Amino acid sequence: MQKQTANKIKKEVYWRCKKCGDEIYWNTHKSMTYCKCGALGVDGCEFYLRLIGNEADREEIKRQKKI
Ligand SMILES: [Zn+2]
Repeated sequence: MQKQTANKIKKEVYWRCKKCGDEIYWNTHKSMTYCKCGALGVDGCEFYLRLIGNEADREEIKRQKKI
């Protein structure tokens, strides 16, 4: 069990809808963003992250950004 605090999100994290395959970047700048089919909603900024929808329908994708 990992608990992430909102202010520690520095990675490139995307949320992918398993139904339509749409990917939403975790930081939506406080605007609720839905995937194509509407099963997954993401509302995030540096301070909080809100996920709408069924947990079984989404997966977390982490991408390391190389500078
Ligand atoms: Zn979808």
